[in-house]
Amino acid sequence: SRKIVIKVGSNTLADKQGHINRAFLSEFAEQVAGLLQKGKQIVLVSSGARIAGISTIGKWERKRDIHYKQALCAVGQVELMEAWRKAFEPHQIHIGQLLLTADDFSNDIRTLHMRNTLFTLVDEGVVPIINENDSVCVDEIKIGDNDNLAALSAILWSADLLILFSDIDGVYTKNPKEHQDAELIEMVQDLSALKASISVGSTNSFGTGGIATKLEAAEKVLSYGIPMILAHGGKNRVLESLQRGEQRGTAFI
Ligand code: ADP
Repeated sequence: SRKIVIKVGSNTLADKQGHINRAFLSEFAEQVAGLLQKGKQIVLVSSGARIAGISTIGKWERKRDIHYKQALCAVGQVELMEAWRKAFEPHQIHIGQLLLTADDFSNDIRTLHMRNTLFTLVDEGVVPIINENDSVCVDEIKIGDNDNLAALSAILWSADLLILFSDIDGVYTKNPKEHQDAELIEMVQDLSALKASISVGSTNSFGTGGIATKLEAAEKVLSYGIPMILAHGGKNRVLESLQRGEQRGTAFI
């Protein structure tokens, strides 16, 4: 695949204290740089604004207050992009920020402009980094999770592959964090059969999506013929090993 959308989840980007994992970001950027050199085109979807906001401001209070959440995202988005910028800098790769909302995908003119911007950035060798514009979004008009946002972005850009990086090795028969006997499913060819056969446990404190939104993302992209891979983002240079064709995580085809 030549055009790849890669989504990195909050749990992959940040440690348990909510600090951005800069070592991860630089190793990841190095792998992306390698792919670009091989002629691949990459669009990133990055979560983590709220976590970064929390660790920057240093407190959790009023965390249910919507405006406080939005303010945290406004602060954290800057930290997040600064961390990505620094990660790509040694490779002389520029990044571009696209903050999107559900509206952007439902208004044809905005969608067209967005699409053109995305193509232009990629043509210029810039790595676009997409996130939901949480500071202007209230729940009612939200895409709500970056798994679905990544799927919409992959469709918008006509990607060849969507990769979701999370903190688990793929889809399991049940939540692997709660059940030791959970089994990894390596290949999904029938999404509805999968949904009926697995149990979708609770997610952890920072993640908003959990496995359910990852399956929604798969459904969206598969309906456009785009395959999806769900894999662990933080393990031994996963991007490179996927590129070599090694089996990692769950493939939805
Ligand atoms: P991210 O921030 O990467 O999007 P999430 O926390 O939103 O991550 O979603 C991943 C989590 O979903 C895993 O850490 C896991 O605990 C949970 N989960 C629940 N059910 C399952 C399942 N059947 N297979 C895999 N993961 C599951």
